[in-house]
Amino acid sequence: MKNIEIKTYTFDEWQNEGKRRFGDDYMDWQFQCPMCGKVSSVRDFKEAGASDPSCAYTECIGRYTGQGTPTENSKNGCDWCAYGLFGIPKGGVYVEKDGEKTHIFDFADVMEC
Ligand SMILES: [Zn+2]
Repeated sequence: MKNIEIKTYTFDEWQNEGKRRFGDDYMDWQFQCPMCGKVSSVRDFKEAGASDPSCAYTECIGRYTGQGTPTENSKNGCDWCAYGLFGIPKGGVYVEKDGEKTHIFDFADVMEC
């Protein structure tokens, strides 16, 4: 298995990166589930019934749309969460705030027009 280096942002860097990619409205920020690759915006989560915007970078939207365990063919989401028993076994990024590192889902790649 390839050893992938995981990026660490400070909280400010992370916020700036989100704004750079998606703009000032965090509802437009998009995150990618590291397990199934599904990309969802904070708005998608709200519309799917999530009460807390932070769900978008700690949970796969599949948890709100009835998807199951991630497989090779999970394209519509899965039931993964970053704070679960297994954490994030691959991918994701760390955000460091007040000396504590949190492992969360990475931003989605922006399609350059
Ligand atoms: Zn997923």
